[in-house]
Amino acid sequence: MSLESELIAWLQENLPTGPRLDIGLGDDAAVFSGEGSGKQVVTTDLLTDEVDFLIDEVQPEQIGHKALGVNLSDLAAMAARPVAAFVSLVLPRKGTASCAALDLAIGLYQGMLPLAERFDVTIAGGDTNSWDGRLAICITAFGETTDCGPLVRSGGQAGDQLLVTGQLGGSILGRHLQVEPRVHEALLLNERYELHAGIDISDGLALDTSRLAMASGLGATLNLPALPLSDAASKLSEKDARSPIEHALSDGEDFELIFAVPDDEATRILRDQPLEIPITRIGELTQQPGLWQQDATGKQKPLQPQGFEHGGQA
Ligand SMILES: [Mg+2]
Repeated sequence: MSLESELIAWLQENLPTGPRLDIGLGDDAAVFSGEGSGKQVVTTDLLTDEVDFLIDEVQPEQIGHKALGVNLSDLAAMAARPVAAFVSLVLPRKGTASCAALDLAIGLYQGMLPLAERFDVTIAGGDTNSWDGRLAICITAFGETTDCGPLVRSGGQAGDQLLVTGQLGGSILGRHLQVEPRVHEALLLNERYELHAGIDISDGLALDTSRLAMASGLGATLNLPALPLSDAASKLSEKDARSPIEHALSDGEDFELIFAVPDDEATRILRDQPLEIPITRIGELTQQPGLWQQDATGKQKPLQPQGFEHGGQA
């Protein structure tokens, strides 16, 4: 088990729950009940130099964009409308090789602001500190559910079809920085169709699918020939020994959404194709536990839920 999953297991045992906390640890974001019927959805993500990016190889604006983008992607995974974000920075006191600490901080915000404007997010506060270590940026974003309610990981049912937005694999060639949170897509689908469960792909299709299936108390089969492969997945596979499908399964940071949808509703969505990006059927939730892969002949075998696990070996 990774450091992160061991800590989460301890926290799930030991953190007291609150009367207004509907969904706590273990989903893409937490859900609180408000005074009325609306619910607040809160998520936080911490990015650190050398773990999530290499500060000398990217622009501060790209880091700022990514830091906010990953939070909005988690709100999208809950089908929540973003409202506000709080930004906490720990800056390297002496700046970086190419810019002073203040310029670095301003660059980070200049990366966040256009994304915040596009998604109607108010940057409402935060905290800034400096030290002799590397840059860390933590954003906490909150949103609210619509009348259609939050989309949680645990709502999947056996026989649900698994749909995915966009294309997968090879994000390291650029998309991992240019996060395009699927907020509008999630809100539209949640409003027009019956969705049972959802998750965003941060750590890899295989790993995040298994997380959704496990949260629903089920297993999942992925139909490998059906996976929507990005050009970057093919490009990357020319450089290494791994196939585009392997890249799509485990690269992570696609920030696309996986939905578990009843069979007839999945057929409607696929026929309508209501989004500006493709939506593809990639598998289904099964009574049989575990993660399974199906090849072109329909043969099934176990699939390792591999991907990127923060704080430990994947
Ligand atoms: Mg997530």
